[in-house]
Amino acid sequence: MALTSVLENTQVRCPYCHFHDSKVLDTSHDSHGGIRRRRECFRCKQRFSTYERPVLSAPLIIKQDGTREEFDREKLERGIRISCAKRPVSAADIERLVGQIESELQRLGKSEVSSRVIGDMVINGLKEMDQIAYIRYAIVYLRLDDLGALRKEIDSLLKG
Ligand SMILES: [Zn+2]
Repeated sequence: MALTSVLENTQVRCPYCHFHDSKVLDTSHDSHGGIRRRRECFRCKQRFSTYERPVLSAPLIIKQDGTREEFDREKLERGIRISCAKRPVSAADIERLVGQIESELQRLGKSEVSSRVIGDMVINGLKEMDQIAYIRYAIVYLRLDDLGALRKEIDSLLKG
């Protein structure tokens, strides 16, 4: 109950006149946990609706140098897209992989995770999607900086 009243008092500016206070006329819940409120502006009396939706947040990412950064969906997508350049991987496939990784991170329910956790998720996802893209990503991520290490990885792919 306390939560509801806090949300009700959230100041939403009127989209017509930008007044900061409105009367809640009606509140309804939807099946996804969202709450819709019909409101009437105290000043101009126009009616509008607001919609509140609970959003899971991803944990902070601990980088290899020990610093933290916010999970950046676009950055992740960019890295994957570069690995998939000129490969038969659709934008939708990349989008799906990024979405999977993001929701897996949210499901972990942790406040922080190592960047390694994300790297492993990308590696596993790419391995199934496209082996060339996987190798490109692995060269950077697994630091396959000599041909021997690279060859070993490729050999294990060819065997698998
Ligand atoms: Zn108004």
